[in-house]
Amino acid sequence: MEIRSIRGMNDILPEDSILWKQVRDTMHYVLGSYGFREILIPVLEETRLFQRGIGETTDIVEKEMYTFEDKSGQSLTLRPEATASIVRAYVQHHLYASGKVEKLYFWGPMFRYERPQKGRYRQFYQIDVEAFGSNDPTLDTDIIASLYDFLTTLNVPGVTIEINSLGCPNCRPAYHKALKAYFSDKIDKLCPDCKSRLVRNPLRILDCKVETCHELALKAPNIHEFLCDTCKNHFQGVQSYLEDLHIPTRLNPMMVRGLDYYVQTTFEAVSENLGAQNAVAGGGRYDGLVKQLGGPDIPGIGYAMGMERLIMILQDIRKEPLSWPCDLFIATLGDKARRYGITLASKIRKEGKVCEFSYEPKSLKALMKLANRLNARFTAIIGEDELQRKEIVLRNMATREQTTLPVDDTLTEKITGLLDG
Ligand code: AMP
Repeated sequence: MEIRSIRGMNDILPEDSILWKQVRDTMHYVLGSYGFREILIPVLEETRLFQRGIGETTDIVEKEMYTFEDKSGQSLTLRPEATASIVRAYVQHHLYASGKVEKLYFWGPMFRYERPQKGRYRQFYQIDVEAFGSNDPTLDTDIIASLYDFLTTLNVPGVTIEINSLGCPNCRPAYHKALKAYFSDKIDKLCPDCKSRLVRNPLRILDCKVETCHELALKAPNIHEFLCDTCKNHFQGVQSYLEDLHIPTRLNPMMVRGLDYYVQTTFEAVSENLGAQNAVAGGGRYDGLVKQLGGPDIPGIGYAMGMERLIMILQDIRKEPLSWPCDLFIATLGDKARRYGITLASKIRKEGKVCEFSYEPKSLKALMKLANRLNARFTAIIGEDELQRKEIVLRNMATREQTTLPVDDTLTEKITGLLDG
């Protein structure tokens, strides 16, 4: 019986993965320009890292983690997000010892047991960007700017950054109290999840998607009336620097984000192209998290971008699908030609060109079909007779123009010259 992939876990096939590669190339390029350095982290972590790092009252920890015991009975979890793991690595390897602002990025799969639907999967990929070592609004600005640059470099249309401040441990308790007071006499109208949120984390009611909760949340007290002076100044700083950079922002006082660790700045990048699941990336400041996970009291801020949603947008706006590049296809007719051709292919590749080869014996007509399927820009046709005469034919697949080239020491150079031409 045929074995199929697990529900909510997808294969990314080459016709799509070329776009994924373009996104990754852009990631290295844009984030590299800000001085971010790449970090790689394991897929599995101890379960308690996420319980402590993400928060017990979050949807992720309550309902969505892939947790199991290994052969030694230790509880392990497939990472549902990257921040907790990156903070763990930052603390474990004393990256803070350098005393500089450490800017890191990562790309890889995350796992959440959610109900699969369009734009929501059980294995999905995130690009994760984190910075440690400063609470200055310029760092918030750079982080948000890197996200905006990333999306605009990829030509994502209509990008707006929604921003908010969630206050800090000094001012948030008063806001919690006000929210509790506001929702307490409306408890009958709240959904079952929000009823329990009211006790444990009333902030989370603000971004509940259930219509009745949302209606009530619209009239709830506004966080910005509760921010302390430090948080107010910090947020004003972020807003005004972003304005200087001409990054379009929209204040969204209802955006609390799903995770417990955020303080002060939170943000999401939304695109007009995404409909209901319109957030392509989200993040915020988590100044207490490094300490909470056993490190020194060092502030941090970061975001995660969902690759699948980004790819959905890029596929939407792209008129023609991208294809893997092929500069040259070497089409050989007969054994001697194949022997000569495989060496020629090797030489062309050493010149940095993408070169494909006719592994299976075929007729010239079938080889030309294959060249088109491979999207070859040029085809080198090597026949037995031509080889006898010490020449090969180079065909430009777009113009159908053919050039006969002598087989001598200058052949590789001549071919690469024509490919570059
Ligand atoms: P979060 O880690 O929940 O803040 O999500 C950050 C980004 O990851 C979102 O804006 C989405 O683009 C993406 N994302 C989150 N959950 C999923 C999922 N189940 N499937 C696909 N993308 C997701």
